[in-house]
Amino acid sequence: MADFDVIVIGAGPAGYIAAIRCAQLGMKVACVEEWKTARGEPALGGTCLNVGCIPSKALLESSEQYEHATKGLADHGISVSGAKVDLAKMIGRKDAIVSKMTKGIETLFRKNKIEWLKGHGRFSAPPGGTNDPWHIEVGGEKAAARHVIVATGSKPRHLPGVAVDNDVICDNVGALSFSQVPERLGVVGAGVIGLELGSVWRRLGAKVTMLEALPAFLGAADEAVAKEAWKIFTRDQALDIQLAADISKVSPGKNGVALEYKHEGAQKRLECDRLVISIGRVPNTEGLGAEAVGLKIDARGFIEVDEHCRSSLPGVFAIGDVVRGPMLAHKGEEEGVMVAELIAGQKSHVNYDAIPWVIYTHPEIAWVGRSEQQLKAESVPYRSGQFPFAINGRALGHGDTRGFVKMLAHQKTDEILGVHVINTHASELIAEAVVAMEFRAASEDIARIVHAHPSLSEVMHEAALALDKRALNM
Ligand SMILES: Cc1cc2nc3c(=O)[nH]c(=O)nc-3n(C[C@H](O)[C@H](O)[C@H](O)COP(=O)(O)OP(=O)(O)OC[C@H]3O[C@@H](n4cnc5c(N)ncnc54)[C@H](O)[C@@H]3O)c2cc1C
Repeated sequence: MADFDVIVIGAGPAGYIAAIRCAQLGMKVACVEEWKTARGEPALGGTCLNVGCIPSKALLESSEQYEHATKGLADHGISVSGAKVDLAKMIGRKDAIVSKMTKGIETLFRKNKIEWLKGHGRFSAPPGGTNDPWHIEVGGEKAAARHVIVATGSKPRHLPGVAVDNDVICDNVGALSFSQVPERLGVVGAGVIGLELGSVWRRLGAKVTMLEALPAFLGAADEAVAKEAWKIFTRDQALDIQLAADISKVSPGKNGVALEYKHEGAQKRLECDRLVISIGRVPNTEGLGAEAVGLKIDARGFIEVDEHCRSSLPGVFAIGDVVRGPMLAHKGEEEGVMVAELIAGQKSHVNYDAIPWVIYTHPEIAWVGRSEQQLKAESVPYRSGQFPFAINGRALGHGDTRGFVKMLAHQKTDEILGVHVINTHASELIAEAVVAMEFRAASEDIARIVHAHPSLSEVMHEAALALDKRALNM
């Protein structure tokens, strides 16, 4: 039986980062991971690297390059003819990026002397006495450690009674590896993942219809941003997004799948060649042995933790998608660092109020902090400043002037409470707002910082000035 200071279960972004930070702090660490690639090879990196963030961004970039070549260059006086998609090559490029990243974690594990225990990990019996370690069973062998970090992530939520074969009816796994561009693609769920995957295949030529059960579009985003995004996606990009769609039947057939649903009072039918189900993700605690050791799980299936990711059991922490909070890779990573430092006896925390959200559509959508509707609901007095990219010199040079920056600050203290960006480079621009909020900056701080000219960041500057009704270029 092997003894460790810490055993991490799961090597997604939360788990592998926790393992590395524990090792950096001098602990003897093992990380249990059961993931196998489509070719049956064991792999580190979890959902994020294998079938999530990284492959989706690779395909978003490739499909965006294609759309730009075919539609976006004429304005620049460049004509392109004969642009074609070699889908096998595009998917191959995506797979190579994934492989490079997952192999990179293997190298990091070797460098940090982290032992990868390959296979499914589960708690065996609880420790006999208070000073006894936890025992984790992996493939019939047991390993012991005084601290366990559960980072078992999440899995796609499926529609009840609808079998996902990842060929015709897919979740994110199949939708990232189609062998040909479907003529008609159905997407159930118009959330972040649905929009990203729908965008990829629309750009490559699919007619995309999205059925969303909720009546509001992008309910978590600021309403002004959601409204702008709706206009761009439905009008300019011809994504057919139907809200408040109530699906009653999904029938797979020989050549595709048919959906029956109610929409705007009418009974409708959608026929498509392939269907992507993207209706959210559920925490993964399957086969973990949680019950055997009394690890508390809440009604929605998440492992119960406090603000420091301590579970109901002494020495057992849980981080990432398997616990409350946004299902975002960077949230899990920071929890991993925090927990490692707490185990090492340091003081550490995660500021859950300053976690950026990004949707990698075109334009991108990014925000940090609270939306205007949240501030209203919480009766927080605020001021708002908004500035468009349409009159920014750099955006005009890029040929992409869509969107705006909206900044919200407390009416009395001027502390920034939320920043919302819709623009091609929103994922990068939001970083300034995250830093500002982490340092509890006022909007005046941003207004007084020098921003390079010409740059998109000037729009952040102008939004801060607009909050005080003194935007300079409008
Ligand atoms: C298509 C898609 C795109 C996404 N894009 C983004 C994005 O752009 N940005 C972002 O921040 N987030 C994105 N996400 C979400 C992101 O992938 C997750 O938030 C992140 O992967 C969660 O990390 P995690 O470490 O908690 O869990 P996971 O990445 O799910 O990893 C958990 C790991 O634990 C392993 N495991 C589970 N149980 C056991 C067990 N008992 N024994 C051994 N191993 C086990 C699993 O095999 C898995 O490898 C995306 C998700 C999807 C599906």
